[in-house]
Amino acid sequence: MEKTKTWDIIIVGGGLAGLTTALHLANNYCSVCLIEKNQYPNHKVCGEYVSNEVLPYLRSLGIDPLHIGAKKISKFKITDIKGKPITANLPLGGFGISRYAFDQLIYESVKKKAHVLFDTVEKIGFEKNQFSVTTQNKEVLKANFVVGAFGKRSNLDAFLNRKFMKQNSSWLAVKAHYEYDFPDNTVALHNFQGGYCGLSKTETDVVNACYLTTFKSFKNCGKIDVFQNEELSKNPFLNDFFTNARPLFKKSLTISQVSFHKKKPVENHIFMIGDSAGLIHPLCGNGMAMAIKSAQIFSELFLESFQKGNFNRDSLELDYRKKWEDEFESRLKTGRFIQRVLMNPRASKVGFALAKNIPSLVPMIIKKTHGNSKS
Ligand SMILES: Cc1cc2nc3c(=O)[nH]c(=O)nc-3n(C[C@H](O)[C@H](O)[C@H](O)COP(=O)(O)OP(=O)(O)OC[C@H]3O[C@@H](n4cnc5c(N)ncnc54)[C@H](O)[C@@H]3O)c2cc1C
Repeated sequence: MEKTKTWDIIIVGGGLAGLTTALHLANNYCSVCLIEKNQYPNHKVCGEYVSNEVLPYLRSLGIDPLHIGAKKISKFKITDIKGKPITANLPLGGFGISRYAFDQLIYESVKKKAHVLFDTVEKIGFEKNQFSVTTQNKEVLKANFVVGAFGKRSNLDAFLNRKFMKQNSSWLAVKAHYEYDFPDNTVALHNFQGGYCGLSKTETDVVNACYLTTFKSFKNCGKIDVFQNEELSKNPFLNDFFTNARPLFKKSLTISQVSFHKKKPVENHIFMIGDSAGLIHPLCGNGMAMAIKSAQIFSELFLESFQKGNFNRDSLELDYRKKWEDEFESRLKTGRFIQRVLMNPRASKVGFALAKNIPSLVPMIIKKTHGNSKS
């Protein structure tokens, strides 16, 4: 009987975090199996603005989103619920690209170097220093290490009994692409009562509109069109958008129970990366960069031991946890703080007045939620 192969590493989830890790490790001769439940390409609920923080790293892996038409973005516009605008230059800048194209771009490189299995992981067991990963199609795969890159909320969070699954998360998000006259170089964040909506262009010249709101705000209207026309359109910028933009999706994409609660970067010996380790409030426009950066942190740490042929699981877990916290904890904290300010009408009014009078305030806050762009 053929002996089951033991992979150096199995990565569960092939979004940006999982794909980037797969590429980085496979480029360095690790045997990598990436398991993703959906085929590529596919649309995802996301603001589709990516900070340049990760561009040098992506290029070092041979990935350049600008080569497939991603829009260079250097300006930020934020409006309050009445539509009063503040504009600022983005300290690092970024690019606009659809998830449909971005994930596919990285996948094209990954599939040449790593094994990609399309299946849903149902169980991850750890025994005698080895993992066994069981899929919906009853495949059982073995690995020395497992990376959890399964996003904000997955069946595996329930399987692993993760704490945040028991906490209330009342956020929902809606996204679609539109034809609309909008500057290529700008990402806009328009506030409305109970939420905010991001607008930016993608590589196909369309505008991605993605908003986050509370279930409490949404439930009074109950329907996406009604909510957009009655609540979002109280902001004159969003009124103009939803009146004049031509929707390109048959139906908007939606997700619910979006959780911003704290998570642990290592659980049951699984190294969590991307949203599986923690999700920053989308208004910071930095979740994708964080997902990619966490892939880099993990991969570099893992390769140090892999190349020496000498692993100490406990110290690897400790080092990763520490590096993850050093890099992201304060960004997540700032993100939570900004979210609280924006969602509180009185605090938001004061915040906007301050930002109007102190032009350096918005770039300073943006810097606090972003890292630097060294590869
Ligand atoms: C409303 C909203 C707007 C946002 N806007 C922005 C923005 O403008 N800019 C920005 O930088 N970030 C933004 N973000 C954050 C960004 O979308 C995430 O941080 C990023 O997608 C994280 O990537 P990931 O690889 O960790 O997760 P994902 O991209 O979600 O990938 C997880 C993958 O795991 C797979 N998976 C899950 N469970 C299993 C399983 N059991 N077996 C196999 N596969 C599985 C899924 O199919 C998925 O492909 C936004 C988030 C939200 C909610």
